[in-house]
Amino acid sequence: MNNEYNILIIGGGPIGLACALEAQKKGLTYLILEKGCLVNSLYNYPVNMTFFSTSEKLEIGGIPFVSNNIKPTRAEALEYYRRVATSSHLKINLFEEVQSVSKVKDQYLVHTSKSDYLSKNIIISTGFYDLPNKLNIPGEDLPKVRHYYSDPHYYAMQKVLIVGANNSSVDAALETYRKGAEVSMVIRGEQIGERVKYWVRPDIINRIKEGSIKAYWNSALTRINKHDVEIQTPEGKISIANDYVLALTGYKPNFDFLKKIGIHLSHDDKQIPEHDSSTMETNLKGIYLAGVVCGGMETHVWFIENSREHASKIINNILSA
Ligand SMILES: Cc1cc2nc3c(=O)[nH]c(=O)nc-3n(C[C@H](O)[C@H](O)[C@H](O)COP(=O)(O)OP(=O)(O)OC[C@H]3O[C@@H](n4cnc5c(N)ncnc54)[C@H](O)[C@@H]3O)c2cc1C
Repeated sequence: MNNEYNILIIGGGPIGLACALEAQKKGLTYLILEKGCLVNSLYNYPVNMTFFSTSEKLEIGGIPFVSNNIKPTRAEALEYYRRVATSSHLKINLFEEVQSVSKVKDQYLVHTSKSDYLSKNIIISTGFYDLPNKLNIPGEDLPKVRHYYSDPHYYAMQKVLIVGANNSSVDAALETYRKGAEVSMVIRGEQIGERVKYWVRPDIINRIKEGSIKAYWNSALTRINKHDVEIQTPEGKISIANDYVLALTGYKPNFDFLKKIGIHLSHDDKQIPEHDSSTMETNLKGIYLAGVVCGGMETHVWFIENSREHASKIINNILSA
């Protein structure tokens, strides 16, 4: 079979690319299988997004990342990872989804939307951005409800309700407000999330204080209708007119995909996929985790900057086997 490699890497995000660079450096054959475009998650981030990490913390394979300001934009990050992939001649098949991984003798058979591949070692670097945390309320399936936010212009002169008070929600609230949307926020607690970027937090707090953005504190969205929404507030249930709902309540890894492969998940709410943190090997010999997928529901624990080191841990373990 021609499709045989030392390593198959599932997911062409920054950490999948970091693993490929490390494998290449050590002379191992590998192939990245990516279901979307190159760094698909980053491509789908809000168009005007700025990373909270400084550019050197997003570097992979020791290749310098130069940005105009200390913290790079999404556009600069796309430029960087694309140049890394092309100048390093990384072996990557785009728009090819991995559908299953099964054991065949002493190898793994990886079945994709286009072909089959064999390898003794698999790296799963599938991230957490494909599945949004749903609200599970009536009306959530209406086309006006979005779990991903891209460009503020679309919402100009519209009544927009934003669910959540963390980074994604706050960025969307401020951007859409500044492009002329009438913005309200439904916030479960009584303050803006503590992890909101420190240079953005005062901005949202002051816009709420001055009444430019309406915040419903200690409240929950309970129903979405075509032209209005129902909110449970401490003063009782209210209904407000609405054109769009941005439910930016976080994302989670594809646990079914991991379970189908045979990877154990912790039995608590965190659902952390079992792995040895010194080698990143899972409960299945030769199957490794890399990047933010390692954190299960704890999606705030791993970033590019602290998970890029997974690459060398994994490749060293494979070489020592
Ligand atoms: C809005 C936002 C801002 C962020 N800002 C920062 C920051 O400033 N600094 C930082 O360090 N981190 C930041 N993060 C987190 C960061 O984006 C992630 O840490 C990063 O994308 C993780 O890289 P990864 O390679 O582990 O996963 P991802 O980048 O998510 O890559 C996973 C890839 O796997 C692919 N895939 C999934 N399933 C399959 C399959 N079955 N077959 C084939 N391919 C598959 C996906 O299409 C995707 O391309 C941010 C996250 C978000 C959402």
